[in-house]
This record gives sequence, C-alpha cells and structure tokens, in this order.
Amino acid sequence: HDDGSVKGIATGDMGVSASGEEKDSYMPGMELHAKYTLFSEGCRGHLGKELISHFKLDEGRDPQHYGIGIKELWDIPPEQHQQGLVVHTAGWPLAESGSTGGGFLYHLENNQVVLGLITDLSYSNPHLSPFEEFQRFKKSPVIKQYLEGGKRVSYGARALAKGGPQSLPEMTFPGGLLIGCDAGTMNGAKIKGSHTAMKSGIIAAEEVFKAVSSGSEGGDKLDSFNEAFKASWLYKELHQQRNFGPAMHKFGNIFGAAFAFTDINIFNGKLPFTLHDKTPDYAQLKPAAQCSPISYPKPDGVLTFDRLSSVFLSNTNHEEDQPCHLRLTDEDIPLKQNLPVYDEPAQRYCPAGVYEIVVDENSGKDKFQINSQNCVHCKTCDIKDPAQNITWVAPEGAGGPNYPNM
Ligand code: SF4
Repeated sequence: HDDGSVKGIATGDMGVSASGEEKDSYMPGMELHAKYTLFSEGCRGHLGKELISHFKLDEGRDPQHYGIGIKELWDIPPEQHQQGLVVHTAGWPLAESGSTGGGFLYHLENNQVVLGLITDLSYSNPHLSPFEEFQRFKKSPVIKQYLEGGKRVSYGARALAKGGPQSLPEMTFPGGLLIGCDAGTMNGAKIKGSHTAMKSGIIAAEEVFKAVSSGSEGGDKLDSFNEAFKASWLYKELHQQRNFGPAMHKFGNIFGAAFAFTDINIFNGKLPFTLHDKTPDYAQLKPAAQCSPISYPKPDGVLTFDRLSSVFLSNTNHEEDQPCHLRLTDEDIPLKQNLPVYDEPAQRYCPAGVYEIVVDENSGKDKFQINSQNCVHCKTCDIKDPAQNITWVAPEGAGGPNYPNM
C-alpha cells in the first residue's frame, strides 16, 4: 500500500523463457489482496527474508541459525524393523571435522524407516560436504544394522531454522505476520517443528479473526499477536530450550549436549542466563587453506550413493526454459572470490549438485555452472554462501521436488 503496509501477494508470471521473453504459454501473475497476509513459507522463505530485511524485523535479535537436514526413506527387511523405534545420534561423523549436528532414524509403518542427518550450517571447514557426511552416517553400525538388505525409496533435503527464541525476528509488521519456520519457531532440542509452527498459525488466525470481526480495515501491525504469543505454551516451550543451539555451537557436540541436558532436563530451562551466538552461519567459514581437506569415500551403490541418483529419487522437476531461480547479485564472486578463498563451497554444501566449476569449452577457462533444474529447494545456498551472493526465488509454479511419504 502507499502507506508502506503489506497489501497482499503477487503470484509469479508463467510462461517466461530463460532469456526473459514471453512464450506462447505466457500468463501474467495475479495480485491477491488481503487485510492481513500471513507468510508461512518454511525456513528461509524468500518473501520472509525480504520482509525481515525491509521492516528490519531482526533488529536487536541474534542472527537466525540453520541446519541442513538430508533425509532418506528406506524399505527394510521385516526382521530388522521395530515399528515406533526412535534412534537419535550425536557426534560421529560430524565431530571428526569439528562440526556439529545430529542424526535420526525413525521406524515407520509397513517396514519403512526414515533416516537423516542434520549438519549445523555454522560449520567452518569449507571442505565439508553435508551430503557426504550423511553417506558416512549410514555406515555407522548403529544405523547400518537396520538398512542392510533394504532398498532406498526416496531422498530429500531441507534447511531448518534452529536459532531458538533469541533468533526469532519480530513476527508482526504492518499488514501481516510471519509464522512457523518462516520466522523460526522450531524446537531445535527436539528437532520438532510441526506442532510449534501450527500453534503460531493458530495464534495468528485467532488474532486476525478478532481484529477483522471487530471491524478492522487491516494494514496495521497486530501487536495483540505478540502478547498472545508470549502467553502461549509455544513461547514457554521455546524459552525452555533456548540455550540448546548456542550451547552446541559454543561447546561442541559432547559438552554442548551435556550442558543442554542439564539445563533442559534437570533445571527445566530455568537457569538464570541465556546463551547467544551472534555470528551468522555464513560468516563462520574459514579460508580453505586454513582447514584440513576431507576425503570422502566413493559411494558403494548399496548404502551410499551419489548426488545425481539421489536427486532422481526426489522426483524433482522444473520447466527447463525459464529464468534461473538461483540469482547471483554479482556474477563474478563465485570464481573471483569464493573459488580462490573457499574452494567455492557451493560445490559441496548443495545436496543436489546444482553448483559446479566446469571448464568452458570455448574459452578453456573455469566457469561457474548452475544446474537449476536439479534444485530440491533446500535454501542452503541462500543461507551459507560466504558472500551472501545467492538469492533463491520461487521458480515457475509447481516446479521442484515431489516427495512421497517424506
Ligand atoms: S541450489 Fe540451493 S536451494 Fe537448490 S538444492 Fe542446492 S543448495 Fe538447495
């Protein structure tokens, strides 16, 4: 609106070619106007990122912190299946490279298990590859015992916001609200975010309903949401586990977990202090020359796999002739800055093999190639690029991964 409040959203144009021209299938986007617009795009939503920056919603807060979760679904032999069994892990393999995170394996129904590894994106060694760490995770005897003789069914990856309440931006702004993982309401200690995201949505719906039914024309900042949020069990739950993330970052997997256990399970989150991590994840990377190279084993095709066969299982599909949805602010940064200093970490942190340094056939020089059609929309590049040079925007409607049972 002219007064600077949010008026609604505009859907993307369809049928635009890679070079920006209108194709025969061109259809302009539509504007959808509302009294209040609720943004719930999940972690690192691209509209959420813009709203946070435009309205300075993160002023005075800790930066948000993230992890990249890489996940697979397997069919396993019935004799190895224990429906309902939950396995959580910490330490190996990430501790070997000095990074933090943790693994999970859940026994679902129908002889299926879902397993994954979350690598904290605060890691500092640019040689680290979250994808390869996940492959190593499956080789652990604790995990392998369930997978042997099984078959991988699906693959996926997604960043998650886990900074805790210290990193929550202001969730209200004129004309709208930021809710769920778009703001960062996940309980990082439990690796659970569905119930908290839903609760933030319920509180938002209740406050919008009250405002609209009492005659509000919208466009204002719903301060009543902040009060209701603070009075809810959601805030209490997030406050109780607030030290988990910063403790892991400060003290590492073992001592961090010991501290978090004492803080959350013994003192019930009532220790009279709050830990902080004021360094954004992208700023944690050290130059490659200062870090030990990490050599990852080749995939065996049984337990461990490469990126491309994994992306195949995510059913990722994008219209090929469309503008690239991974935008570089400065096209020179990957080769001129990121490659010499960090050995261009995008080649490793992207779990879908989207970013490659290849030799240009014509010039014989290095070229930064973006295979955007492989993108599984995890948002890691938008978060971890050391120059903050990559912006993920929504591709043409319906493009992206299509996860069954994930
Ligand atoms: S290009 Fe970015 S958003 Fe897409 S899969 Fe790779 S890291 Fe994730």
